[in-house]
Amino acid sequence: MKNPPSFSTSELEIALRAGDRVALSRCITLAESDRASDQKKTATLLSRIHSHTGRSIRIGISGVPGAGKSTWINVFGSMLTRQGLKVAVLTIDPSSEKTRGSILGDKTRMDDLARDPLAFIRPSPSRSILGGVTSHTREAILLCEAAGYEVILVETVGVGQSETAVRHMVDFFLLMLIGGAGDELQGIKKGIIEMADGILVNKADGASLGAATRARAELLQALHLYEQSSGEWKTRVLLTSAAEKKGLEESWQMILDFKDTTTSSGQWATQRSSQQLRWMEEYFNHQVQHSLQSNAAVRKQLKALGSNVENGQLNPVAAANTLFKIWSKTGRQK
Ligand code: GDP
Repeated sequence: MKNPPSFSTSELEIALRAGDRVALSRCITLAESDRASDQKKTATLLSRIHSHTGRSIRIGISGVPGAGKSTWINVFGSMLTRQGLKVAVLTIDPSSEKTRGSILGDKTRMDDLARDPLAFIRPSPSRSILGGVTSHTREAILLCEAAGYEVILVETVGVGQSETAVRHMVDFFLLMLIGGAGDELQGIKKGIIEMADGILVNKADGASLGAATRARAELLQALHLYEQSSGEWKTRVLLTSAAEKKGLEESWQMILDFKDTTTSSGQWATQRSSQQLRWMEEYFNHQVQHSLQSNAAVRKQLKALGSNVENGQLNPVAAANTLFKIWSKTGRQK
């Protein structure tokens, strides 16, 4: 088999548009590559598929490890494929070098989906620069859409920055919590609750049902005090049990209701447009930073000036200005 670089962009595009999963995997690998030639090919591919993207429902799902995200995605995704929908699952893990094992674990917990011909699962790229990873995930979303996937679930494994990153690339942001753990234990900050369009209190089964029900009531109360995430939409809180496959239809109905409400108000389209703009800005900043860091003259002076700053001989602002001047003069030369 040929490596991704040996395929032409038109070959890749044809296979991708035909829904070929191997081609989709190859296109995502190409997009994740740092090589300049692969990046150029990716840019061409993305331009060619542009008119075939944007038609999926993009759902972000976040929550502390152990809440049941993978188990839920497995049963929720399977419910959707039984309805004939094509479902893709992408994972964002900014610390994936360290948690490689847990990602593999997640994959096995999604084993029904992994075997499902209507589903596609792709773990996060292994590099850990959040800016890079999120840009690749956005590219992967578009590639999945061009391959005909209708529902795209973006799962965050890392906690912290990655929730915000996901919020800016999906239509609907879902937060998964469990009852009885308390806000602090769950590491959930108010800001994350405010970002959510829907909250699932999972493990609402067996002995945990009472705690889950109480957590839901508390969350509903708290939401009254918070600013609602999106205009006319009021964040809903549902009880689910991924283990007992409960609350799956309600979860999907919530997402469809969100789509209806925000499509009529225009918010769906506005959110998509501002996300595109943000991606452009982030990608541009990323490129500038990359160009700065790969500039040989800058790198050389960074070391020299850095030690002068460290030993107190030079003011950091003056040193940074000197570096910037060197970069402006030498431009994009490596
Ligand atoms: P993740 O880290 O958020 O992806 O969580 P997992 O899906 O790996 O689930 C963590 C543990 O919780 C596993 O042992 C699951 O079997 C269990 N689990 C997941 N969902 C439920 C649920 O709805 N009820 C119960 N009782 N256990 C669950």
